[in-house]
Amino acid sequence: MKVGVLGLQGDVREHLGALETAGASPMIVKRPEEMQSIDALVLPGGESTTIGKLLDRFGLLGPLTERVARGMPVYGTCAGMILLAARIEGRDEAPHRIAALDVTVVRNGYGRQVDSFEADVDVKGFDSPFRAVFIRAPLVEDAGPGVEVLSEVDGRPVLVREGRILASSFHPEMTGDARIHEMFLSMLDGG
Ligand code: GLN
Repeated sequence: MKVGVLGLQGDVREHLGALETAGASPMIVKRPEEMQSIDALVLPGGESTTIGKLLDRFGLLGPLTERVARGMPVYGTCAGMILLAARIEGRDEAPHRIAALDVTVVRNGYGRQVDSFEADVDVKGFDSPFRAVFIRAPLVEDAGPGVEVLSEVDGRPVLVREGRILASSFHPEMTGDARIHEMFLSMLDGG
């Protein structure tokens, strides 16, 4: 099974490291041929408008959207979650998106003033809290009935799963705790 990390912009290296810790041998994906050769993909955090534009410019948006529609496991963190979200509320529309996850998000929804914060969050299935790092994170305003909420902060979903799509508004690749990457890898085995 080949796991890719979209390598156009953002914290690509940190995700490669976390996937390695979780037991995978990940590869960077930048081209349509590479997109076709993988079995699962991580969309890193960064700037969603930029990543979306680059996806479009490099001819990756169509193939990626199609592979996600056909059930390829994908995990979006922060900007990656925005790219997966079906709906964006507010004027910060991110025009080039995969738009496959039945959630509405507000970009920078935790406020631009309080750029970043950390919180110990409970995650379904974990026996101890997970240290979550939020950096200009998207706020999940609503989630459809098919979306399972795996973690929340102040009553708002911060880690969700719908079918083979996993998304978090926080960055799990920054703390050395690879449990969420392990959870993602287990989705490749039908978990
Ligand atoms: N605020 C960024 C955006 O809207 C996401 C930030 C992040 O990925 N850490 O794209």
